[in-house]
Amino acid sequence: MFAAMEAARLEALHLAQDPPTGLQAIIAIHNTTLGAALGGCRFLPYADPESAILDAIRLAQGMSYKAALAGLPQGGGKAVIIRPGHIANRAALFEAFGRMIESLAGRYITAVDSGTSSADMDCVAQHTQHVTSTSAGGDPSPHTAMGVFNGIRATALARLGSDDLESLRVAVQGLGHVGYALAEQLAAAGAEVLVSDLDSGRVQLAVEQFGAHPVASDALLSTPCDILAPCGLGGVLDSQSVARLRCAAVAGAANNQLAQAHVADELEARGILYAPDYVINSGGLIYVALQHRGETLPAITAHLSRIGVRLTEIYAHAQADKRSPARVADALAEHLLYG
Ligand code: NAD
Repeated sequence: MFAAMEAARLEALHLAQDPPTGLQAIIAIHNTTLGAALGGCRFLPYADPESAILDAIRLAQGMSYKAALAGLPQGGGKAVIIRPGHIANRAALFEAFGRMIESLAGRYITAVDSGTSSADMDCVAQHTQHVTSTSAGGDPSPHTAMGVFNGIRATALARLGSDDLESLRVAVQGLGHVGYALAEQLAAAGAEVLVSDLDSGRVQLAVEQFGAHPVASDALLSTPCDILAPCGLGGVLDSQSVARLRCAAVAGAANNQLAQAHVADELEARGILYAPDYVINSGGLIYVALQHRGETLPAITAHLSRIGVRLTEIYAHAQADKRSPARVADALAEHLLYG
């Protein structure tokens, strides 16, 4: 386990259990150079504790990079609670998790992630103030969408020479919490918006509410467009799908869009500009981090606009160095974290 920690440059790994509630929790603190580690809490079943620990380490590292490039005074961390087969009292389990966080004295701040809800965070908040995304905090998704919208403008300017949305054709894959809000915002700004979702009801709603053009899910990636915005699951970009793309740029909300790191170079070779996912989708993190620090909504909105500025900077470096923006983003984050 120390080898995995060293490979990821992880600062600390905390394990806790609470047999009465069934809590088995891992908190990975990756890097606190820029501030307290902030990152969501997953509540999922795992094949074994080692897989859960490795997941926490990998995700915590990603959070450090994301917070650093979002210009936040936060480090990166992640919690994983191994979901038991039987949950006798979910509230008591999350309260026990709250006591674990409190014992870390502010080095880690938790948030909602896969398998957890704001109601769970309310239980955590009974025992610690180092928690965000409680039900009082509101849904971060519209802020993620706003950040992606700003990022799409910056990407269009860099790749097409104009950020005029009225001449832009954007294909949005996935109309969930983020994708729907993004598609709506793009349509309101005058863009032609093509949409797909596995749920035909979401597509129908987008057609009726803001005149989106429906595309079959299996055809969206190869539909001609200026910008492809993946907003569904991760891993959509692999060697096969990249060969089929007919867009000038990829800029969307989904986490871990690249199935493998080398896919970034394949996009580059095809002349498709790639907005590094953890940079363009950092709006939700910016929202929960700044809200936790007591910032006002206008201040948060101003910070979201810096996502576009950061992407412009990354694209300029990438062009000068003839490297993928994904590799430039990693290098910039590492410079901020390690000097
Ligand atoms: P969500 O679960 O609300 O929505 C995802 C949508 O994508 C669903 O409607 C689903 O049917 C659709 N979908 C999945 N696979 C698809 C496919 N192959 N083709 C078409 N549609 C497909 O999720 P969300 O909260 O909107 O998040 C979307 C993505 O953005 C995820 O990858 C998430 O990790 C990432 N993200 C979200 C936030 C946030 O604030 N919610 C922040 C950062 C990153």
